[in-house]
Amino acid sequence: MADIEQKDLMEKIVSLAKRRGFVYRSSDIYGGLAGVYDFGPRGVELLNNLKRAWWQANVYDKENYYGLDAGMFKNPRVWEASGHTSGFSDPLAECKKCNTRIRVDKALEAIGVTADEKMSEDEINALFDAHRAEIACEKCGAHDFSRAKKFNLLVKSNLGDFASEGGEPVYLPGEACQGIYLDYKNIVDSMSPKIPFGIAQIGKAFRNEIAPRNFLFRCREFEQADTQLFIRPNENKEAYEALKKEHMAWLASLGIRQENLRLKRHENLVFYAKDAWDIEYRFPWGFDELEGIHDRSDYDLTQHQIFSGQDLRYTDPETGEKYVPWILETSMGMGRLFLAVLADAYREDEMGGEARVYLALAPKIAPVKAAVFPLLKNKPELVAEARELYAALKKEIPQIVFDDNGNIGKRYRRQDEIGTPFCITVDFDTLGEKPELKDTVTVRDRDTGEQKRVASGEVAAFLRDKIRA
Ligand code: ATP
Repeated sequence: MADIEQKDLMEKIVSLAKRRGFVYRSSDIYGGLAGVYDFGPRGVELLNNLKRAWWQANVYDKENYYGLDAGMFKNPRVWEASGHTSGFSDPLAECKKCNTRIRVDKALEAIGVTADEKMSEDEINALFDAHRAEIACEKCGAHDFSRAKKFNLLVKSNLGDFASEGGEPVYLPGEACQGIYLDYKNIVDSMSPKIPFGIAQIGKAFRNEIAPRNFLFRCREFEQADTQLFIRPNENKEAYEALKKEHMAWLASLGIRQENLRLKRHENLVFYAKDAWDIEYRFPWGFDELEGIHDRSDYDLTQHQIFSGQDLRYTDPETGEKYVPWILETSMGMGRLFLAVLADAYREDEMGGEARVYLALAPKIAPVKAAVFPLLKNKPELVAEARELYAALKKEIPQIVFDDNGNIGKRYRRQDEIGTPFCITVDFDTLGEKPELKDTVTVRDRDTGEQKRVASGEVAAFLRDKIRA
């Protein structure tokens, strides 16, 4: 396999994603909208496969986790209680020469200086001033920036603002997990879960990111897959370690290479956190956050208890003891996972004397599991047989396509580029040209290019085994 320069990899992924129907810029024909992307026909299948695999691991494979899909708009008080209206901000500065905006904390981080989230504007500016000479505008290279200002990331809406009555606006969710805290009481009342229990949700989040960048990595609209595990106070240590291990193993189970994943502890903890780690992936620009795993104590429920005036304590069904549960959280951006999976699967090699690009996606997440071809497009008997096999397979495995466009080599290349693990060809032997091969087809493996003959009636079982593996 050819070594791909990391600096080129991102460009290649973005180009393949557009060319092959994975990801488009939002409102592309109008020049796009920064920080928003659309998932195309192949992308939505890959995304849904990732979500299904996540739901399987975090809801179906567990007895004590409950799924949820909370509404996006929430009572404005929610964002006061969570601290988002006052504290959910990033420090922004502007290049005085070309007006490019930078996130000061990220610019400092890039030169090895950590800016604490809790820092006041003055404290950030003191740090920024001390390191200004080392920070260059990424567009024009100048070192002359405005003072850093804290910029709130919540996106306001005008929902319900019919008569401009004043008061807090209704925000779009800055993080999806608030829906879980808000429905914790409903779930306790309706499902009678026993602690420890979890709630899992995949939901949209919106942030007024100052500098959206790196394709799906930093967007203004994105999806988060969250789990919140409700536990007894002080029973956090063992469960937290188990969560870290479990989530690392799950990412590896998608086919992401171990050496591209690592756990990193946060240097600065927010005041209520007992511990905080990130699972980082080696993106084309280096290791960066993929998923946060946070030990949040009783902070979230206590805040909502204070602001809502509702009793959010859990009552132990056996002892009658009442307490506010502690929470262990995992939160991962689905777009970041999608990008990590694409970056990890992208390969270039040579096959049959020709350069090729392919995505080495695990069959269970590949957007197309198999493509069915007639060897030749202009032989009706081959086409009819191939169509029949395609229709039968599609009933069982919906992510299957039929392709008779161009010669077989071109079809292979096209399927390789979208990561289709198997190509199935109906040829003259299938029709009985060699009687001993009648009703068999060739199955070609994407990664090795090897072909073997499989009985037509056994193709579905073959594919099911590979998808399950
Ligand atoms: P960062 O430091 O990169 O801004 P964060 O620490 O603010 O991220 P969290 O608020 O903990 O992120 O969000 C949980 C997860 O949501 C992150 O691990 C990431 O995968 C995803 N996420 C956060 N912000 C974005 C974004 N702007 N675009 C895409 N995904 C995001």
